[in-house]
Amino acid sequence: MTNSTSTPSYQGSMLMIVAPSGAGKSSLVNALLKDDQGLKLSLSTTTRAPRPGEVDGKDYRFLAKEDFLQERDQGHFLEWAEVHGHFYGTSKPWIESQMQAGSDVMLEIDWQGAQQIRKLIPSVQWIFIFPPSIEALEERLRKRGQDDEATIERRLAAAHIELTHAHEADYIVVNDSFDQALVDLKHILASSRLRSGPSMARNPALLKRLGV
Ligand code: 5GP
Repeated sequence: MTNSTSTPSYQGSMLMIVAPSGAGKSSLVNALLKDDQGLKLSLSTTTRAPRPGEVDGKDYRFLAKEDFLQERDQGHFLEWAEVHGHFYGTSKPWIESQMQAGSDVMLEIDWQGAQQIRKLIPSVQWIFIFPPSIEALEERLRKRGQDDEATIERRLAAAHIELTHAHEADYIVVNDSFDQALVDLKHILASSRLRSGPSMARNPALLKRLGV
């Protein structure tokens, strides 16, 4: 994996979005994907139960814990982590096929997964989404009405830990104004596409003509 991804022949960009639960990360990612057909979102596998309205194969690939652990032991995941008492992982075959196709890929993962991916793929761009305040985070968690009180408390405690990893990210986007945060994400995506590696890999004929 490391070889196939760190070579200049990889034409795409890889972005990781990390944020505490309730920072509004999923809404931002969905808006970004809607406006950008070239960007593909990695479908994570999880052992947590689907929330009301979540669809298997669309929001997550929902697996029983034994099946997840079996796939993990078979090397199916590029990264995996235990988050809020459940397992989550990124499909290695999917990422490899997207990278071979030169697609731009986005991962919505936690800080533990982000650290693992950065070791494997150093060119990855890590974006951290800040909520405007802890109060706003708590309000969003409660408003979505999908989790019980114990789960909300667990997620708030985890949010503090997640936030201590913000300095490891390449970019920080504050989700105070949704529209501004979306513009910021679009700028980051555009700039990551212009990085010399992906740019040069996308323009082999021009490089030849320029004698580079
Ligand atoms: P939720 O259960 O609210 O959908 O997600 C809980 C946390 O798990 C979020 O921080 C989310 O980013 C993270 N997560 C989702 N998919 C993955 C994954 O494939 N790998 C890792 N490491 N974290 C994930």
